Amino acid sequence: MRNTEFKETGVRLFSEGLVGGNFGNISVRGVSDDGRDGFFITSSGSYLDEEDDLKFVDMKGNPDTGASSEWRVHHRIYSRSPEISAIVHAHPAMSVAASFYYDEIIPNDSEGKMLCPKIPVRTGEPGTEELAENIASAVSISPVAIARGHGTFACAGTLKEAYLLTSIAEHACRVIYYMGGFGGRSL
Ligand SMILES: [Zn+2]
Repeated sequence: MRNTEFKETGVRLFSEGLVGGNFGNISVRGVSDDGRDGFFITSSGSYLDEEDDLKFVDMKGNPDTGASSEWRVHHRIYSRSPEISAIVHAHPAMSVAASFYYDEIIPNDSEGKMLCPKIPVRTGEPGTEELAENIASAVSISPVAIARGHGTFACAGTLKEAYLLTSIAEHACRVIYYMGGFGGRSL
């Protein structure tokens, strides 16, 4: 598996403050050494800007020991949406803050309007089937969704695109904040 691509994505996420000591995780579709379809995902508690011992999860939902505890969300997304090949999950502060106040985030900035015009906010505790189902259904209508009080799930054909969507969603939330949003105030 191209671990360098994971690391490059992790470095970008770190440099923009999209992940940190609060982690996050990333994955890419792939085939295991013994020929099973599934995806490679960062390991639990790994710093995304460092080389990682990537874990494999097959499409039947069997994770390697030590796979990120949020593998269920990734598994459900890949099962439901064959066009998605890469997922970035991050915990960016503005997106998390905005998620407490809105059920759907509508970007005002040009990039946000173009690439993720409606960002759904969904509920569910981390690591649960409920979160997996809610996020997988949300990303079938938008490339980025936010788990309330938790973080973003950005889905695309490549890790680079999934990283970009994460950055764009966070930027959109920051612009909404600077325009006087959040805190119960509507625009
Ligand atoms: Zn998370």
